[in-house]
Amino acid sequence: DVDKEKLSSVAKIKVVVRKRPLNKKERAKREEDIITIEHSTSSLTVHETKLKVDLTEYVEKHEFVFDAVLDEDVSNDELYSETVEPIVPTIFQRTKATCFAYGQTGSGKTYTMQPLPLRASQHILRLMHHAYKNQGFQLFVSFFEIYGGKVFDLLSDRRKLCMREDGKQQVCIVGLHEFRVSSVDNIKEHIEKGNAIRTTGTTGANEESSRSHAVLQLAIKKLQDGNESKPARVIGKLSFIDLAGSERGADTTDNDKQTRIEGAEINKSLLALKECIRALDSDQTHIPFRGSKLTEVLRDSFMGNSRTVMISCISPSSGSCEHTLNTLRYADRVK
Ligand code: ADP
Ligand code: MG
Repeated sequence: DVDKEKLSSVAKIKVVVRKRPLNKKERAKREEDIITIEHSTSSLTVHETKLKVDLTEYVEKHEFVFDAVLDEDVSNDELYSETVEPIVPTIFQRTKATCFAYGQTGSGKTYTMQPLPLRASQHILRLMHHAYKNQGFQLFVSFFEIYGGKVFDLLSDRRKLCMREDGKQQVCIVGLHEFRVSSVDNIKEHIEKGNAIRTTGTTGANEESSRSHAVLQLAIKKLQDGNESKPARVIGKLSFIDLAGSERGADTTDNDKQTRIEGAEINKSLLALKECIRALDSDQTHIPFRGSKLTEVLRDSFMGNSRTVMISCISPSSGSCEHTLNTLRYADRVK
């Protein structure tokens, strides 16, 4: 079976690191690029400047190896080929695939994630119209945000939604809008609408989005016996998750109560996510998805046949050294 063979050649978990270029602000502050990348070994080194007791400086090197390490000059096209492209065909084979962007606020998560769903949809529609022609496959999109442990529909004016567990222990989001899409323009409209709603919060765009997880899901369904009147059955799913800023998980001692509560929730969800991915990798039967709203929502993506791609985004600047090391250590634990 060619399809099965192809499926087994796609890694269950892939961890990729993407370094962004130094920005204007960092250059103005004369911050240095402290990340070097060795492509031949997919490794990366952080050069951390430290002080001795006598206050002289020295550099401590931290080396990490990942499945792929993408330098600042890597385009979103190349990123797509490295991360999502290989997993797209797997969702036609009853797989649940998930692509996460992890990193501190400003490290490039949204820049990295935003173009991916559209590219993936193009790819999926192409497969539906050619390789899987006339097989009754349909494509659906939904887009929501998890903020402070609550779910908001980004395709329906940020309506607050509830979660419910059904008899089959599947967690579903009650009333979540899901649209069937049949063309690239069609899906583009939905994605742009959701992105616009996401960034028009009351506070600054990055301020608000840094505290929420955005989840865009593409579902492949299949008509039962080619019958349009019966509900189509879910075959596979591809989820794109722009996670809350990883530094927000540390806001647990902030003076503001709301910030503290949100920080605790983010901390909990990022820890639970790591545990779930690790459990998947070791083929554990117990997946600790109950640890947070995020992992509960993703429950079906952590069960059965699954594929996970983690994209860890990092800033190259000396001023972000500590956050960058935290991000790389997190990615290292998932690997
Ligand atoms: P985050 O979502 O992690 O908070 P953003 O994606 O908003 O970060 O990125 C912060 C800024 O850096 C944005 O202005 C974005 O355009 C820019 N940026 C991020 N990654 C890259 C990259 N790889 N190349 C060029 N610019 C980037
Ligand atoms: Mg962002």
